[in-house]
Amino acid sequence: MSLPATDSIIYLVRFPAPQTHYAEVEAVFPTAGQASIEVFMPVWTPGSYLVREFSRHLERFDATDADGRPLALTATRKNRWQIETAGAERVHLRYRIYCREMSVRTNWVDESFALLNGAPTFITLLEGLQKPHEVRLELPEGWTTTMTGLDAAVGGGAHHYLAPDYDTLVDSPILSGNPAVHRFDVDGIPHFLVNEGEGSIFDGPRAATDLEKIVQRYRGFLGSLPYSKYVFLNLLTEARGGLEHRNSVCMMASRWAASTRKSYVEWLDLASHEFFHVWNVKRLRPAELGPFDYENENYTRSLWIAEGFTDYYSLLMVRRAGLVSEAEYLGTEDPTSHTLSGKINEVQTAPGRLEQPVATASFDAWIKFYRPNENRDNATISYYTKGALVGWLLDARIRRLTGGAKSLDDLIRLACARWSGERGYTFEEFRSAAEEVAGAALDDFFRHTVFAAEELDYAEALDWFGLQFRANPESEKATLGIETKVDDGRLLVKAILRTSPAWMSGLNVDDEIIAIDDYRVHANQLTKRLENYHPGDRVTVLAARRDALLRINLTLSAERNKWSLEVSASATPEQRTHLRAWLSAPRP
Ligand SMILES: [Zn+2]
Repeated sequence: MSLPATDSIIYLVRFPAPQTHYAEVEAVFPTAGQASIEVFMPVWTPGSYLVREFSRHLERFDATDADGRPLALTATRKNRWQIETAGAERVHLRYRIYCREMSVRTNWVDESFALLNGAPTFITLLEGLQKPHEVRLELPEGWTTTMTGLDAAVGGGAHHYLAPDYDTLVDSPILSGNPAVHRFDVDGIPHFLVNEGEGSIFDGPRAATDLEKIVQRYRGFLGSLPYSKYVFLNLLTEARGGLEHRNSVCMMASRWAASTRKSYVEWLDLASHEFFHVWNVKRLRPAELGPFDYENENYTRSLWIAEGFTDYYSLLMVRRAGLVSEAEYLGTEDPTSHTLSGKINEVQTAPGRLEQPVATASFDAWIKFYRPNENRDNATISYYTKGALVGWLLDARIRRLTGGAKSLDDLIRLACARWSGERGYTFEEFRSAAEEVAGAALDDFFRHTVFAAEELDYAEALDWFGLQFRANPESEKATLGIETKVDDGRLLVKAILRTSPAWMSGLNVDDEIIAIDDYRVHANQLTKRLENYHPGDRVTVLAARRDALLRINLTLSAERNKWSLEVSASATPEQRTHLRAWLSAPRP
C-alpha cells in the first residue's frame, strides 16, 4: 500500500478466501519518532454492554517497517501489543481475523458478503484515538458494493473511507457484497435501506417506503435530522437483533420478516427502535456513556432511559406514522412482546420485577442482562421493557399534570436540546428537566418506578387515556409454573418461576417430566394434559433427575395473568381526545 501523507492510521482490509471466513488486515501506524508504540483493540462495543474479548478472534500478527523488515512485537495484555519501531516512521501491522459470528456486534465473512464492525476489527494506537482513520477494502471478485455510514475518502476510489477519529470508525459497521440497496430522501438527506439476503422474498421497496414514513415522523417529532446520510444495514440472515450508530444501524432479521403481518410489524418496530437511537443514546446520552473506555465496563444506571424510552417510542412512532392500528399498537388481540400489552405482560409475569430495581438492572447489564441464566425472570427485570413502561407512565403523568398541554415528547425535545453535545446528562439533570416540563416534583415517581423493585401502578395512565385491561380467561387454567423444552424427545424443565408450585415443591431445572399421576406425559402433551386439571388440584409428578426417578407432590396453581389493554367502551369524549393526542400526535 502507498505511504500515508498525514499522520492518519490506515487500514487495508482484504478477503482473499472469504469462504474460509477470514478478513486480513494491514494497519499502518505513524510512530512520531518513538522507540516503541502500543496498540490495542476494544474488549466491548458501545450499545452492547458486555465484555466480549474481541481479540480472541485474531491470528498471525506480523509487524514490519515500510520495507518489510521485521519489528519486535510483544503482547502486553489480552488486547494490547507493543511494537519496537527501530526508528521507522511508520509501523505496518498485519493480522487476520476469524469472522464467523452472526450478530450485530461481531464480524461475519463468507463467500457472499462481509459484515465488519469496528471494535472487533480495527487495532489502533493507544494514544491515537483522535487521529483520522482511513479504511480501504479490497473485495473478492464478483462483489460490487460496500455500504457504511462512513464518509468516502476524499480523492479515494471505491470502497475507500475516512473516519475523523476512532470513535467514528467503531460506530460505523461496514457491509460488502452484493446487497439490494433502496434509497429514499427526507429533507434532501439520503437514506439507504441495504438488504443482504433480500432475494425474491423480502419486499425491499415496500419496506423502504414504510421506513421513509417512520423517518418523516421522527423528523416531525424532533425537528431535524442530525446527519448527512443514514444507512439501514438490514441483514436477512435468520439471526436477530439491532445495534445503533450515529448515522447507521446494523439489524438482523429473517428473510421472511415481511411475509406475515406480525413479523413485519416486529421488523418495523426494530427499525424504529434503532432509528430513535440516532437521538436517544447516540446524541442524548447518559454522562457515563462517553467518552468510551474501550477496555473496561462503562457503568450507567440510566439505560431505562437510553433503551427503555427508546423501546416505548419504537412502536408508538410506527403507530404515529400510520403503519399499525391503535389495537395493534396496544396489543389488544395479540399482546406480543413489541406491543404495549406485551411489555406489561413481560414485566407483570416476571417475579424479578419485585427483586431488582430497573436502575440496578441497568448498572448490572454487564454481568446480568447479557448473561441470562435459567433464573433470569426470577432475579432480574429488563431495563428495556420496564423502562418502556416507566416511559409510558411518565408520559401519562406529565399529560395529566399539564392538562394535556405537555407530554414526554416535550421532555425528549428539551433533553435533546440540552444534552446532545460533548457532555451527557446525569439522572438528577434528567429528573429536573422532567419536573420543569411537568411543572411539579417527580422525585416520588422516580423513587417508586426506577429506584425500587415495586409494582408499577397503571391506574393513572389507564384513566387518562380511557383504557382498561381485558378480563382474563387464563386464570382458570392450571399450571406447574414452569417453562419446558424438548430435548431428544424428552420433556425437560427449562425454568421455574419463583413462588410457583414447582418452585415450592422442589422440581428442578433440567428435571425430565415423565408422568403426572402415574400417566405418561409425552414431550408435546403437557399443556393438553394439564387441561384435565384445575388450579388447586393435588398431583404427583414423576420426574428423572441425573438418571434417578423421583416423585414430587404439588398443588397446581392458576396460569399467569395475560394483560391486554383495550379502549374502554365507557371512555369519555375527553379520554378519547387524550388517546388521540397520544397515538396520533400532530407535528409540533
Ligand atoms: Zn436499543
